[in-house]
Order: sequence, then structure tokens, then C-alpha cells
Amino acid sequence: MIRSADTRRTVSGNSRKKAGADAFKEFDASQLYCPRCKRAVPVRKRLLLVLSEGDKYEYLCTFCSESVGTKIDRKAKPSTIIR
Ligand SMILES: [Zn+2]
Repeated sequence: MIRSADTRRTVSGNSRKKAGADAFKEFDASQLYCPRCKRAVPVRKRLLLVLSEGDKYEYLCTFCSESVGTKIDRKAKPSTIIR
């Protein structure tokens, strides 16, 4: 079962209600260390590349937009499963 949408929702937290939470909508991952801010910062997730094995995302510091990490969201591709 593919649950990528579910995963994203879980990370950002279900406890946040709609009202007033718009600013936090993009805070997708947990905080990462930013070398420029020299502290753990909330990050923004940005789609970098679409690869055959999944989508590559970049995490940017919300304060200085420094890239603080990348991640590949692997998706189970039905086409790779040969029956
Ligand atoms: Zn920063």
C-alpha cells in the first residue's frame, strides 16, 4: 500500500488545527541543523529532482534558505513489479 500522503500528514502533526496553522504548513520534516544559523531550524521541503527510484527533495532552512539536507522519497513503482 502506498501511503505517501499519509506519511506527510503525520510528520507535520495532526494536532495542528486549520486556524492559524497556515504558516506551519510547509514545515514538513523535523528540525535540522543549519550550519549558517548554527542551530536546529525548521525546514522547508522542496522538490529537487524526479528520479526513477523516487522524488529527491531538498530541505531548506526557513530563516536563511541554506540547504541543510536532501532526501529521496522512494515510491513503490508498480511498473517495476513484473508478474
Ligand atoms: Zn539557516
